[in-house]
Amino acid sequence: MSLTKTIGIIGGGQLGQMMAISAIYMGHQVITLDPVADCPASRVSDMIVAPYDDLFALRKLADSCDVLTYEFENVDADGLDEVIEEGQLPQGTKLLRISQNRIFEKNFLSQKAQVTVAPYKIVTSSIDLENLDLSKNYVLKTATGGYDGHGQVVIKSLEDLVEANKLANSVECVLEEFVDFDLEISVIVSGNGHDVTVFPVQENIHRNNILSKTIAPARISKELSEKAQAMAVTIAEQLQLSGTLCVEMFVAGEDILVNEIAPRPHNSGHYSIEACDFSQFDTHILGVLGEPLPDIHQHAPAVMLNVLGQHVEKAKDFISENPSAHLHLYGKLEAKHDRKMGHVTLFADDAEEFGEGLDF
Ligand code: AMP
Repeated sequence: MSLTKTIGIIGGGQLGQMMAISAIYMGHQVITLDPVADCPASRVSDMIVAPYDDLFALRKLADSCDVLTYEFENVDADGLDEVIEEGQLPQGTKLLRISQNRIFEKNFLSQKAQVTVAPYKIVTSSIDLENLDLSKNYVLKTATGGYDGHGQVVIKSLEDLVEANKLANSVECVLEEFVDFDLEISVIVSGNGHDVTVFPVQENIHRNNILSKTIAPARISKELSEKAQAMAVTIAEQLQLSGTLCVEMFVAGEDILVNEIAPRPHNSGHYSIEACDFSQFDTHILGVLGEPLPDIHQHAPAVMLNVLGQHVEKAKDFISENPSAHLHLYGKLEAKHDRKMGHVTLFADDAEEFGEGLDF
């Protein structure tokens, strides 16, 4: 059996690029499918340049590779089912379909995995929003297509219902109770189809609904951390997970509620590249190849700051003042506002040192 595999990645953004770098370190070949010829992964892999739902291109990728994976969840699951051979996409299209639709996702989390989620109900029209108990707050989210807070309406008063009703009458939605959380956390877990390995709990700070900063380990009690990791492992085991999954959660008092899952490496796990002995990308590649998975050790508390388009110059200044910080730039040519251009990871002796001022 050859030690070297050819891995096909659908999506050539920064996640595809960092997956490819891990795979290349392990001696594998990588071919990436992306509509943009000079996408981040093009710097480190061979390319098939075509739209993601181009069946001819997907088939060409499948025919050229031993194993396929994806870097984002909005992949054409039907198209993949048509072209892949049995076992060629270890992550499977079932998990893809669950994470593409908040209704499937919520039902899976609460009924199959039996982890705590915010109370929710499915909304198919504004009729389902009648007689809402407005002593509580809610978030109405579109079942499909939402990301980073897009496609969401927070309902705190009667006035908010105007917009919520409009949304509810246009697409299928999920209505969730608003969680008055203390902080947001996430847990990265990787599987190889049989076993799983789990990363430290990460604390996530968003700005304008975009991840701004991740602190790992999260500044929560040992009990809460263990509870969060156990929930992520339960979800992974229920899925017989292959590859890396990120479980996003809320901490509210002593409760942990799962918000959503992303079936791929995640922005909040980037600190693991330098801070852990194996990164979330390493375990993703090992996992999709069905290799044994290592236990994860974090060397030191770490903070990751996202470098968006408007932060590039500040990040460069930051690095000249903090030469022991690790700057990653993904090789995107145009620094647009809010576009993820790179990230910075740095260490401290204690996560409590990562004060509020540490930001771009
Ligand atoms: P999502 O698209 O589900 O990841 O939501 C984006 C952000 O909206 C989350 O990171 C939270 O900050 C916030 N959010 C989502 N759902 C809720 C909820 N049920 N209660 C409170 N805040 C929420």
